[in-house]
Amino acid sequence: MSGASDNPLRILLLGGTAEAAALARAIPSRFGAGVQITTSLAGRTERPVPVPGAVRIGGFGGSEGLADYLRAEEIAFVIDATHPFAARISAHARAASEALGLPRLMLLRPPWRRQPLDRWIEVEDAAAAAAIVGKLGRRAFLTVGAGDIAAFAGIEDVRFLVRLVAPPRQVLPLRFHTLILGRGPFTLAEERHLLQRHAIEVLVTKASGGAATEAKLAAAREASLPVVMLRRPPAEPGEAVASVEGVLAWLETRIGGVPPQRASRS
Ligand code: NAP
Repeated sequence: MSGASDNPLRILLLGGTAEAAALARAIPSRFGAGVQITTSLAGRTERPVPVPGAVRIGGFGGSEGLADYLRAEEIAFVIDATHPFAARISAHARAASEALGLPRLMLLRPPWRRQPLDRWIEVEDAAAAAAIVGKLGRRAFLTVGAGDIAAFAGIEDVRFLVRLVAPPRQVLPLRFHTLILGRGPFTLAEERHLLQRHAIEVLVTKASGGAATEAKLAAAREASLPVVMLRRPPAEPGEAVASVEGVLAWLETRIGGVPPQRASRS
């Protein structure tokens, strides 16, 4: 392997997802001291899941700020393992990597596939979901994440069951709601129980994809509930894989061969 431990290859891992945390654990155990990972987080969560390696927190200041960072830190590879709805950081990662000629790989969760008994209503964004949720039920299970809850403020005729991964920084702007905290993966039995206990009539979710939060869709299907599904923004063009293992295989092909070009300080 190129990249000796006294001069390791530097990888910037854009994170904020379970997959990124898994990569921060898997990359050092696969490639050892020859690589050095920095996980980058936006800083939305107060107590992020601890990961091995360096962690930096906060925005870069757009694609130019990110390009400056990549150059200053002599990053060799950019792995974009952000959430499929985090479209801006992915666009910046593409622009900055292209400007410097750096290899960039996206980890894109496999999208969920609609099944015959599903009652999905696909909408463009949270505002569109908010406009229709009250027509579909009086008790809604809202799993869109803290950043999109404001779109549902002002709805008076729906009681929301809100699930977040971490306590919100501010009181939720919802008239009637119950907050529960939970980080996937969730089982079908858990999701079925939740829908029944709260007498849920409609589920509102982002089309995030991946296995960890898919069970709620099966539970909704079983109960024949409508699901308001926020469409995924289009992914950035570029190389992409669908799993942590796919990222490791991609790195293997690059680290195993000719030493890659690093972003230069000059
Ligand atoms: P976004 O709209 O794509 O990004 C907004 C800005 O936040 C970016 O322009 C960037 O600021 C900063 N940023 C985002 N991700 C960052 C990262 N990993 N490291 C450093 N700066 C980052 O992102 P978002 O939808 O707010 O998501 C923020 C974070 O939460 C991401 O890490 C994402 O993986 C995670 N997350 C998002 C969702 C979701 O539904 N959107 C769900 C679960 C987890 P600058 O322009 O200043 O660099």
